[in-house]
Amino acid sequence: MNDTGTPHASEHETPDADLKARARRVLQHLDAVLPDVDLLYGDLHEHPELSGEEAHTASEVARRLEAEGYEVSPGVGGHGVVGVLRNGDGPTVLLRGDMDALPVEEKTGLPYASRVKTKNGAPVMHACGHDVHTACLVGTAALLARSRDAWRGTVLVVGQPAEETAKGALAMLNDGLYARFGTPDVALGQHTAPLPVGAFMHREGVTMMGSATVRIRLFGRGAHGAQPELSVDPVVLGACVVLRLQTIVSRELSSLESAVVTVGHFQAGTRANVIPDEALLEVTVRTEDEAVQARVFAAIERIAKGEALASGSPKPPEVEVEVNTPVNRNDPALIRKVQAAHVTWFGQDAMVPSVLATASEDFPFFARGPEGPVPTAYWYMGITSPETWAEAPGKTPMEKVAHVPGPHSPFYAPDRAGSLRKGCESLTVAALACLHGGTTSTDH
Ligand SMILES: [Zn+2]
Ligand SMILES: [Zn+2]
Repeated sequence: MNDTGTPHASEHETPDADLKARARRVLQHLDAVLPDVDLLYGDLHEHPELSGEEAHTASEVARRLEAEGYEVSPGVGGHGVVGVLRNGDGPTVLLRGDMDALPVEEKTGLPYASRVKTKNGAPVMHACGHDVHTACLVGTAALLARSRDAWRGTVLVVGQPAEETAKGALAMLNDGLYARFGTPDVALGQHTAPLPVGAFMHREGVTMMGSATVRIRLFGRGAHGAQPELSVDPVVLGACVVLRLQTIVSRELSSLESAVVTVGHFQAGTRANVIPDEALLEVTVRTEDEAVQARVFAAIERIAKGEALASGSPKPPEVEVEVNTPVNRNDPALIRKVQAAHVTWFGQDAMVPSVLATASEDFPFFARGPEGPVPTAYWYMGITSPETWAEAPGKTPMEKVAHVPGPHSPFYAPDRAGSLRKGCESLTVAALACLHGGTTSTDH
C-alpha cells in the first residue's frame, strides 16, 4: 500500500497470486509438452529396466534434456543422468526422478503392459510408478526450459538409477554429484501413491522410515537328527531368537515410539534327519528416529547373544548391521512451502491428511550436502483412476487406499493421462515456489 491507501500494482499481489501467475506462464506450455511426456511414459512402461540396468531409460532422458537446452552429463553413479539449466541469479533447485523398475510380473492387462523378461527369465515391471516420476521430471524440465522469463536460478535435473536397491542416490553423490554440478539449495522429489489422481499428501518432518538389515549368524553343533543330545541345535536357537525379537517393539519401545522388526529370512539345515551347525537370520528394521534405531540394533544383538548363551552355543553369534536408507525427513519450512504452492495451484480439497510410511526411500541421501544438510521435500501424488477409486469400498481415503493396487503390486496401474498431467504440474509448481521470480512480468 502507498500512503493514499491505493495499492501499487507491484505490491497488491500476495506471494500466492505471484506464484499462481508464474505457474500459469510456465504451464501454458503443458499441452505442448504432454504428448512427448506420454510417449516417454509409454516407452518406459513397456520397456522397464531393473535397478542398475537403466541404459535405455537414461538415454531417452538425456536426449530430451539436451533437446531442451540442458547441459547433460550421463553416467553419473551408474546410469544416472544430470541436466543443468542455468537461468540467472537465484537458488539451485534439484529435481529428482527415479528411473528403475522391479522384478514383478505385470498383471494390469493394459495394452502397454510390460512383457519384458531378464536374460534369466525374471519378469520386469514398473510396479512402483518410477516411469511416472521420470516422465514428469522430463516434462517439468521442458516446461521450465520453455519459460525462462518466468523464473531465475539454476535447475538441476537428476534422473536417478537404482532406487529399489537403495544404491543409486548414494552412487550419484559418491560420483561427485554435488562437487561437479553444485550443491543445491533444496532438493525436491515426488512419489506416486494409490490415492485418487489429483490428490497430494505432504508430511512435515519424518515422512518415511529409515531402513536397515541385520544379519545374524548363529552357531550350534551339528549331529544326527536322531541324537539331539549330541547337538547344540541352531534351528531351536534361531526359533527362540525369532520369538524374542518380537518383544523389542512390544516391550522395549514406548507406545509413542514406532519401529518394525521383521525376520524375513530364516535359513538352516538341509534335511530332516540332520541337525545343522549354523542358522542365518535376516531382519529388516524400520524406524523413524536414529536414536530408536540404535536401541533396536543393540536389542537385537543382546537377544542374539543371550539366546546363544542360553543354548550353549560353541561361540557367540555374528551380528552384522547394514543401514540401507536414512529416515526420509522433510525440512519443515520447505515442505510447508511446497504444500502451500500445491494448495495455491490445486486447491485445498486436493490435499489428503498425511500418514507416516513404513516403506523407505534412498531420496534422503540427497540431504547429505558437503557442508551440511540440504533441505529436502518429498511428497506423494495420487495416481488411481476416478473409476477405480469410486469402486473401492470405504469412506475415508485411508480406508479406500487399502482396496486399490499400491506400489509393488502387479496390478499397480496409474491413470495415464491424469497422472502425467498432475505430476508435471506438481513438480513444476513446487520448483517455481523455490526458484526466484522471473525477469519480466508483462504477460500476467
Ligand atoms: Zn518401490
Ligand atoms: Zn518407488
